[in-house]
Amino acid sequence: MDQAESVRTPSSWVVVGLDNGGTSNNATVLDATGQFLVDHLVENPSRVLDGPESAVEALADAFTGILTLTRTPHSLVRAVGLDTPGPASANGVISSKGATNFNHVSWHGFDIRGALEARLGLPVVYNNDGNAAALYAHHQHFGPAAAANSSVSAIVGTGLGGGVVEAGAVIRGAAGMAGELGHVQIPLHGVLENDQPVPRCNCGFEGDVESVASLTGIKNNLLPYWLSRFPEHQLAGEPIGAAAKALRGYAEKDDPLALAVFAQQAKAIGKLFTIAANFTDPAAYFLGGGVVEAAPHFRQWFLNTVRESTDLRDEQKAVATFALVPDRDMAGSRGAAVAALNTVIVK
Ligand SMILES: [Zn+2]
Repeated sequence: MDQAESVRTPSSWVVVGLDNGGTSNNATVLDATGQFLVDHLVENPSRVLDGPESAVEALADAFTGILTLTRTPHSLVRAVGLDTPGPASANGVISSKGATNFNHVSWHGFDIRGALEARLGLPVVYNNDGNAAALYAHHQHFGPAAAANSSVSAIVGTGLGGGVVEAGAVIRGAAGMAGELGHVQIPLHGVLENDQPVPRCNCGFEGDVESVASLTGIKNNLLPYWLSRFPEHQLAGEPIGAAAKALRGYAEKDDPLALAVFAQQAKAIGKLFTIAANFTDPAAYFLGGGVVEAAPHFRQWFLNTVRESTDLRDEQKAVATFALVPDRDMAGSRGAAVAALNTVIVK
């Protein structure tokens, strides 16, 4: 079989991975040997704004569509992995207070995992999108040694997502709230300037990782402060939301204000990783999100700044790896599929 072919035909049993997002679902197929049968984004509209019923049908369409594309008979599918944005329980029940993507009241407390399982007649394994991406990063990096290793992933987006992987499996916690790395409070000494206000997070905490290392943190906290230090800056005249989104472009051109903001983000992630070093002492620290798509010299600088800001002991430095999370757009569906594959293998 030609490995370079964009779509491969499955040889034995498979699992399907479905990544549910605000506008699109993204689907993949993973075979029993750990090979993905799709090497590109395969999307369909997620219809989450139309409510749960339409969204579950859209996921079923994604499932059928990816089987057709990969010429996979339905009878070969052993399980389905599903991921969505949180907050949701470990078992895929959307928060009773709703969520950014699941705002309509019909979503509050909705069991999306159970509904999809009933619709497809196959076991469905749930993870939130941060945990799915963390699992994919882990398995992509460690390959056959995944089960013997641990990692922590921080994924910078609108918020700060990620996850903790131990012995190849995501740590879920008693209430499904483990690995909510964005809301870990960090020491701010060495991160903030002396006259800088303590950043606030939408979750109600002050000085957690997301209040600094996220697009929301830039918009609400970091950029207003740094614009007061650079009042003549080009972005001073822009609406703050647009200015926050434009900031990475400036950083890629070594703009001092933009680099000051991203240095604070990298230092905050380093503080988080320092906590991780003393908590699970992982073998690998992964960094993902928009920064991975930035110009190579900028993303390398960002990763280096994270590494320099992570306080490891000499024994840890000798074994720890820092790396970027690969295949950002496909990380959710691929991680969801890996989670499904793990449950089939364990059985
Ligand atoms: Zn928070």
